[in-house]
Amino acid sequence: MNNKNNKIKYCKICGNLFKLKPKAYKRLVCYNENCIKELRKERTRQWRQKNKDYFTKKPSWIIEKWNEAKRKWRTENKDYWKQWRKKNKEKYNEYIRNYRNRKRITKS
Ligand SMILES: [Zn+2]
Repeated sequence: MNNKNNKIKYCKICGNLFKLKPKAYKRLVCYNENCIKELRKERTRQWRQKNKDYFTKKPSWIIEKWNEAKRKWRTENKDYWKQWRKKNKEKYNEYIRNYRNRKRITKS
């Protein structure tokens, strides 16, 4: 009974005994769907705990790179909006001029 291909283990989640399938000696939970789900959740949680830094802390050189990119984007966009406003102001002025001219013509 105690040979490698026919081991019995306690499920880590529900505590029931279960028979290990051959080559599955690392298995920690039984074949209950709920236990498998629970184990997966646990693994995800552990992974997140371990890799907290992966999401929060970034190496300073990456942050610096990002900040630089942000700065660049901002200055470029500032210019872009300035240009846009200038262009549209000219267009708007032209429109007003045309409008006034037309009004003058119809009046007289
Ligand atoms: Zn179980």
